[in-house]
Amino acid sequence: EKPALSIIDYSLSYKTANGLISALKNIDLTIPKGKTVGLVGESGSGKSSMAWSVMRYLPPNAVETGGAIRLAGEELLDQTPFQMADIRGRRMSMVFQDPSTSLNPTIRLGEQIAEVLMRHRGLTKAQAWAEAEVALARTGITRPKEMLQRFPHEASGGEKQRVVIATAFACEPELIIFDEPTTALDILTARQILDLFNQLRDETNVSALYISHDLGLVSRVVDEVSVLHKGVIVERGLVGEVFAKPSAPYTKQLIGAVPNPDRWIGVDAPTDPKTLIKLDGIGVHYGAPSKIQKMFWPEDAEKVGFWGAKDVNFEVRKGELLGVVGESGSGK
Ligand code: ATP
Ligand code: MG
Repeated sequence: EKPALSIIDYSLSYKTANGLISALKNIDLTIPKGKTVGLVGESGSGKSSMAWSVMRYLPPNAVETGGAIRLAGEELLDQTPFQMADIRGRRMSMVFQDPSTSLNPTIRLGEQIAEVLMRHRGLTKAQAWAEAEVALARTGITRPKEMLQRFPHEASGGEKQRVVIATAFACEPELIIFDEPTTALDILTARQILDLFNQLRDETNVSALYISHDLGLVSRVVDEVSVLHKGVIVERGLVGEVFAKPSAPYTKQLIGAVPNPDRWIGVDAPTDPKTLIKLDGIGVHYGAPSKIQKMFWPEDAEKVGFWGAKDVNFEVRKGELLGVVGESGSGK
């Protein structure tokens, strides 16, 4: 089976007043069908350039100096702008960091989703609006019909990003590129958007490239990650292994940006509160399902509590940096 996306030995430079500046060097990256691959790196490492290359959204001063980018085996570098306009939205779509960039401020949200459906799925206006409502409901918006009537400035950042995500998924594309889709959102909304992404991906089996500067965040949505540094992929592997045993010095630095605590405590949110009543000094209100990723829970972490717990006992020793781990909703 052909991979959803294969980038082979791809290089890109930008023409500037100071001559050509290299942005991507000999990039190899493969996304198998139905998988999400992460691309992480600091600001300026070339992440968005990679996304723009795949979407064929490059600025006029971009110079491609070699390589191939294939969507299900089909060369994208050979497509005309006209052919690309048909592929974008239908076979692949992109979610940007700031939802305002992808939404037209003068057009109702419903119309923006409906337009994509009319164009690529040949629906009538009425069918497209009905379908837009279904698409929006799937993203967890409570009153989708009403939301469709609003203009972008009448929606919150999180709502707008849901509209953009609904649009991206609307035509059931083979590939979606997410370029830091949660950076402009508060941490709680960001988590909801990540959960939404996981949910829609499971429902649709879409393949995705998930871009972020935050390796920890990426680990919530991907199995495999590539680390980009100054336009070069310096490391790739399963996200847990990259996190636990980074081999490239740059990856170590990227992870090192997260402080290394002297001691860890783990906060759990068990499914069966009864089992935890046995723990000394902890009272239970209620539990929540637990699936903390192992790599975020160091082997030697002390377990202290859970969602809604009271009388949890632990202390921060003098001069100590204490790390607290636990999933979203565990009560950290
Ligand atoms: P961030 O995390 O801040 O979004 P990024 O990893 O997405 O960063 P890019 O936006 O891809 O990085 O930029 C990579 C490099 O290419 C940077 O050095 C940037 O200055 C340069 N660059 C990007 N677009 C252009 C352009 N149109 N002309 C010239 N240089 C550019
Ligand atoms: Mg970027």
